[in-house]
Amino acid sequence: MLDGKIAVVTGASRGIGRAIALELASRGAFVVVNYNGSKDRAEEVKKEIEAAGGKAEVYQCNVSDFEKCQAFIQDVIKTYGRLDILVNNAGITRDGLLMKMSEADFDSVIETNLKGTFNTIRFASRQMLKQRSGRIINMSSVVGIAGNAGQANYASSKAGVIGLTKAVARELASRGITVNAIAPGFIETEMTEVLSDAVKEASVAQIPLGRFGKPEDIAKTAAFLASDDAGYITGQVIQVDGGMAI
Ligand code: NAP
Repeated sequence: MLDGKIAVVTGASRGIGRAIALELASRGAFVVVNYNGSKDRAEEVKKEIEAAGGKAEVYQCNVSDFEKCQAFIQDVIKTYGRLDILVNNAGITRDGLLMKMSEADFDSVIETNLKGTFNTIRFASRQMLKQRSGRIINMSSVVGIAGNAGQANYASSKAGVIGLTKAVARELASRGITVNAIAPGFIETEMTEVLSDAVKEASVAQIPLGRFGKPEDIAKTAAFLASDDAGYITGQVIQVDGGMAI
């Protein structure tokens, strides 16, 4: 159980982040539901958590902004007195073939997915070091392991998240803080909804378990990594992909 734990989930207004927020709250954590633009949807997640008997609060923060992340994380720590679980889930795609990819599309994906993950860890880790405990869970992707045509920016960001996870895991291990990544395969959310039927058919053909994943598949893994049961796991990348990248 996660009773009494304070958890921050970035990008929790929809998709995988929403599912993680609901799962952590159902196990007793107080969940900070972060969003960037989708205020109403973040408020809905908070209401869903409360309707199920859990506790949550909504915080706006663009994770790609270093100073805003400092204010956000410090505000959470000041308000709730501690920070036990940090889930870096916020992420975007700006797909396109390399030859046509703009500098802005490369930069924005790196800034949100990779730098955003660094930004929150940078400020959360200070508190976790003081507590001598903490759980950091970063969202990578199967694409960060295997690459994908049309996603040079996204694959770079998600491979970067794996390097960041491993480096920080080594730095923080001696103080009882674990740092792990989850590498989802193809999960049914708004991020993948926009893909063409042809891309979806080609993707499912590459999944040994023969189906796309659901946000809840990732949420259960995140909740395990956040729990006491996962206390001896750090620096790992857990693939939750139906076997896509075996
Ligand atoms: P999604 O449905 O598009 O939701 C993305 C979430 O990230 C939203 O809550 C969004 O908040 C938030 N976000 C985006 N930019 C942000 C920023 N600058 N600051 C704070 N929040 C921001 O995506 P998803 O499919 O749930 O994906 C969640 C994570 O899993 C991402 O890191 C993604 O790369 C990764 N992933 C997804 C899949 C998949 O198949 N779906 C596979 C592998 C990895 P707003 O609504 O407020 O903008």
